[in-house]
Amino acid sequence: MCQYCCTTTLGRREVLRLAAGAGLAGVGLAAGLRGAHAASGEATSLTSVEALGALKAGNSRFVDEPELCMRNLYERREQVAEHQAPWASILSCADSRVPPELIFGGLALGELFVARNAGNLADKGVVGTLEYGAAVLGSPLIVVLAHTRCGAVDAACKVVTQNANYPGLIGPMINPILPAALAVRNDAGDFVTNAAKESARRTAAGLGSLSTILSEAVNAGRIKIVAGIYDLASGEVTYLD
Ligand SMILES: [Zn+2]
Repeated sequence: MCQYCCTTTLGRREVLRLAAGAGLAGVGLAAGLRGAHAASGEATSLTSVEALGALKAGNSRFVDEPELCMRNLYERREQVAEHQAPWASILSCADSRVPPELIFGGLALGELFVARNAGNLADKGVVGTLEYGAAVLGSPLIVVLAHTRCGAVDAACKVVTQNANYPGLIGPMINPILPAALAVRNDAGDFVTNAAKESARRTAAGLGSLSTILSEAVNAGRIKIVAGIYDLASGEVTYLD
């Protein structure tokens, strides 16, 4: 285990230790969620701003020092076996090249609460997952993470430009991307990248309308929802307005 791992892991343990006794009172849980078994124990004490800063620092580390730290997975597994307190939730594409724990700097077990599907889309399962992360586990940040050269977004763009058809449930799966693709169809630059950015922006902006739990948490300042795009070539995550 390298110096970075030792210092940052201890730092996070310290953060969690200091949060002991705080419970989840600050998370503003719906009453029915308070008793959830997975919520026993304390949530992270990181704010959404601190969590976003940690993700940015981790991604910079991934870009600049891609040789990731060795992790003591056995020790960490024991630490989180009874309780999790993830400090950020990530909705990312299922693409095999975009594993959130790695691209945010080689994070350990129990740090990120992750939902993935092709195109990083907010279906019911994803919205419920993000609600659980925020309301039950106390994760203060949601990142909707698109990426360059996304196959799902490319497929949606081909529906727009070529009226493409896809077998099975692939077509219905990518349908939610079509409005974003249509909106940026004539913009300068790469169509697929522009559509991926626009889709992530819309997904992030729309989570509140899909979930009262999330909108109330945002309005109360308990969580922050942001969109970003990961560059497959550079490894860099850029956050979108
Ligand atoms: Zn993708």
